[in-house]
Amino acid sequence: MEKYDYLIVGAGLFGAVFAHEAKRVGKHCLVIDKRNHRGGNIYCEDIEGIHVHKYGAHTVSYTHLTLPTNREV
Ligand SMILES: Cc1cc2nc3c(=O)[nH]c(=O)nc-3n(C[C@H](O)[C@H](O)[C@H](O)COP(=O)(O)OP(=O)(O)OC[C@H]3O[C@@H](n4cnc5c(N)ncnc54)[C@H](O)[C@@H]3O)c2cc1C
Repeated sequence: MEKYDYLIVGAGLFGAVFAHEAKRVGKHCLVIDKRNHRGGNIYCEDIEGIHVHKYGAHTVSYTHLTLPTNREV
């Protein structure tokens, strides 16, 4: 059975950054999440090449304003 230094519940910003930093100093981490994606509440879906927030009210992210396909905006 594999051994870990940390079991991190949640692959959101906190869990992901913690795992990243722990790995940098040689720790072995297992990250689990009840959702089927990483990123927690900042997760975005690629819809026709545009990053769109999946959670929360602000479904139009600022990336809309900077995408080459939306130069008019
Ligand atoms: C609409 C909206 C707008 C926001 N705007 C901003 C902003 O402008 N600026 C800003 O700094 N922050 C903003 N935030 C907050 C930002 O999203 C959070 O600060 C950040 O995502 C929190 O990260 P986290 O890792 O703590 O939690 P989360 O991103 O919530 O990640 C937690 C993860 O843990 C998982 N989890 C929870 N319980 C369990 C369990 N029992 N078992 C397995 N997995 C579990 C969840 O599925 C989730 O993936 C906003 C949030 C929302 C919803």
